[in-house]
Amino acid sequence: AKSAGRNRLAVFVPEMTLAMQRRAQMEAELRKAIEAAALVPYYQPQFDCRTGAMVGVEALLRWPHPQRGMIPPVEFIPVAEESGLIVELGRWVLHRACADVAAWDRAGAPPLTVAVNVSARQLKEKGFLDDVRSALHASGLAPERLELELTESLLMDDVDAAVAFMHAVRAEGVRLSIDDFGTGYSSLAYLQSFPINQLKVDRKFVQSLPVAGHTIATAVIALSRGFGLSVIAEGVERPEQLEWLRAAGCDYAQGFLLGRPMPAAELLARARATAEA
Ligand code: C2E
Ligand code: CA
Ligand code: CA
Ligand code: CA
Repeated sequence: AKSAGRNRLAVFVPEMTLAMQRRAQMEAELRKAIEAAALVPYYQPQFDCRTGAMVGVEALLRWPHPQRGMIPPVEFIPVAEESGLIVELGRWVLHRACADVAAWDRAGAPPLTVAVNVSARQLKEKGFLDDVRSALHASGLAPERLELELTESLLMDDVDAAVAFMHAVRAEGVRLSIDDFGTGYSSLAYLQSFPINQLKVDRKFVQSLPVAGHTIATAVIALSRGFGLSVIAEGVERPEQLEWLRAAGCDYAQGFLLGRPMPAAELLARARATAEA
């Protein structure tokens, strides 16, 4: 047993080193990509369930890598969070997203809102609110057009600090949405003290509609109504899911059925086309 343990250890150490090397390499490449502004925000459209009109977009980061193709955020966001690079990256996305939407206004798109995902690490940074203000100022975008998507776990990490932060954001006129709602661990009681505008039903519940998932989806819609919040469903892939959501009184929908995340130019073309129709 003793020698087996020693063997395991001998195999384990180089593997750890390799994983650490890969991580370090990715971090170094990510740092360079951020400096070179080589990442791109894609935009996924959001629609009003009743009218079918495009009302907003969510900014979703992509990393076009010269060797490895398009790297999805699940691979590099964790690296960005652990290394602290997310602070700079998040600031950049905020600026880009506001600037893009303001440019679409001038190019004849309907006035869309833009949702930007925020990591816990960014909230802990003193300058985050200044970043929000400067992104709005530089773009000229009205604060009500910007929405920050926060997750439950991020809010539950330090509830008092999160509530103070949320009030500060709301005082700027910026809107707040709770992402992946229903998958985290926040107590319903906290919802009362959160100055938020919207709940986002997690994809997990939407995907199993209308057969399963409807109990939770119905509850989240009712909860939103009760608190005077709007509600959006993400991950809508099939017509019957959209139909169910519309009938259940869900306000907005987002998903592959309605539009995949796409480059800014494509989103603008689509927004203009729907505005003319
Ligand atoms: P999320 O905020 O929950 O974003 C929704 C994800 O679901 C996106 O994945 C989107 O492409 C995908 N999606 C949208 N509609 C459908 C659908 O109908 N079916 C399916 N199967 N998937 C759908 P994506 O773009 O890979 O992003 C993954 C996660 O990475 C995001 O999850 C978010 O947590 C994070 N992320 C992306 N961009 C940023 C960013 O700028 N900042 C931060 N902090 N996180 C980001
Ligand atoms: Ca999101
Ligand atoms: Ca989500
Ligand atoms: Ca998610």
